[in-house]
Amino acid sequence: MSYALGLRCLRCGQRYGLGMMFEGCPKCADPDIVSNLVVDYDYEKIRNVLSREVVSRRSSRLGVWRYRELLPVSDERHALSLGEGSTALLHSTSVGRKIGLRNLYLKDESRNPTWSFKDRFSAVAISKGLEFGVKTTAAASTGNLGASVAAYSAKAGVPSIILTIPTVPFTMLGLMRAYGAKVVAVTTPAGRWELMSKGVREYGWYPAGTYTTPPTGNPYGVQGYKTIGYELVEQLGWRSPDYIIQPTAYGEGLFGEWRGIKEFYDLGMVDSLPVMVAAEPEAGGPLYRSTLEPRETIARVQTKKSVAFSIAGSVTSYQALRAVKDSKGYSVLVSEEEILEAQSLIASCEGILAEASSAASVAAAKKMREEGRVDADAVVVCVLTSSGLKDLENRREQLANIPTVEPRWEDLERVLQTYYA
Ligand SMILES: *Cc1c(COP(=O)(O)O)cnc(C)c1O
Ligand SMILES: [Zn+2]
Repeated sequence: MSYALGLRCLRCGQRYGLGMMFEGCPKCADPDIVSNLVVDYDYEKIRNVLSREVVSRRSSRLGVWRYRELLPVSDERHALSLGEGSTALLHSTSVGRKIGLRNLYLKDESRNPTWSFKDRFSAVAISKGLEFGVKTTAAASTGNLGASVAAYSAKAGVPSIILTIPTVPFTMLGLMRAYGAKVVAVTTPAGRWELMSKGVREYGWYPAGTYTTPPTGNPYGVQGYKTIGYELVEQLGWRSPDYIIQPTAYGEGLFGEWRGIKEFYDLGMVDSLPVMVAAEPEAGGPLYRSTLEPRETIARVQTKKSVAFSIAGSVTSYQALRAVKDSKGYSVLVSEEEILEAQSLIASCEGILAEASSAASVAAAKKMREEGRVDADAVVVCVLTSSGLKDLENRREQLANIPTVEPRWEDLERVLQTYYA
C-alpha cells in the first residue's frame, strides 16, 4: 500500500528509519536551526503504479487515502478516514474582480470533517500512531488541531489529551470536548510545550503536533497536507497553480503542499511548480522575519493579540523556510484590518465564511496585486484553511445591534432603510 522508505533530514540529508522521531534531526541541530525530517518514498516503484489516469479514477470518498502510495501508512486497516479531503476549488470571479486577479481560486478547506485543513494532518498522524501501537494521543493547540486530533482519536478509539490556551474560542472547546478529549488550558505557550514534552518523553504520549522550539513536529502528519497539492493539480486540469498562498504559522501546511506538487512534478504528473507564499499577520510574522536574515536561521518574534489567532505564532519551522526558498516564494504580512476586510469580502461575494486566519491568504493576494508582485492573469490559489463558524465571537460587536421590530410593515421598511440603507 505505502512505498515509504524512511525519514530524511531536509538540511543535512541524514537518513533514519520510519520511527517515532518528533524532535527533528539530531545530527545537524544547532542553536539557530533544528531541521525537520521528511518521509521519502520509492519513487521508481510509484512511477509504475501511479499515473494521472489511475488517480482520476479513484473515488473522492477515499479521503486522503486516495493517494495511499505517497502516504506513510502500510497497513490498510490502520488508515482512518472521516471523509476528509477532496474539497472544492472555486474560481472566485467576484473577489478576483475586486482585487484584480482573473484567475483567483479558493481552496475551501472548511469542508473537512472538523471544518479545517488540520483533518488531513490528523488522518495520517493518528493512523501512523495506530501502526506504532500508541495508547494516548496528545496535541498542544489553539483550537483547530486540537479539535481535529480529538475527532480522529475518537474514531481510532484512543484517548486524547489537548493542551490549549485559556482564551480558546468556545466553539473549538465545544468540539474538542464533544469528541471526548481531555482538554486542559495552560497559561503560557512555552508551558504548554514543556508539559507536552514531558508527557511524550516520560509517559508515552503520541504527539500529533509539535512541542519543540523551533517546531519540528510529527513528520507523518505533515504528509497529509501533500494531498492539498495533489488535489490542486488535478482540479486545475493537471496543471500547477502559479502561486499558492497559505495562511502560515509553523508552515506545516505550506511545506506539505509544496512537497506534494514537487512529488507529482518528479513523477512526471505535472510540468511546472508553484511559487509558495506564506500569509502571516503583522501581529506575528516569524517566517517573514526569518526570510530577511542574511544567513539561514529561524527568527523568533514578539506576538500581539490577533483576530488571526490560529496563525499568530512567535516561531516557525525550518521546513517553512525551505518551502519559500526552494519555490522562490516569500511571506506577506497583513494587518488586522486587511484580514477582517478580506473575511467580509469572501463571505459577501462568494458565500463562504472563512476563519479570519484563513482570510489572511486573500488579504495577501490583494496586497501582492497592489504591489505588482503578481500579474492579473496568474493562476493564484488561496487556501481557506478553516471555517468562520469557529470564531464568530470576533463579530459579537457587529452582531449585537440587529434591529428588532413589531410585526408591522412600516416598521420593517423603516429599519431596512435606516439600518441597511
Ligand atoms: C493551523 C492553522 C494554520 C497554520 O498551519 P501551519 O501548518 O501551522 O502553518 C492556518 N490556518 C488555520 C485556520 C489553522 O488552524
Ligand atoms: Zn540534519
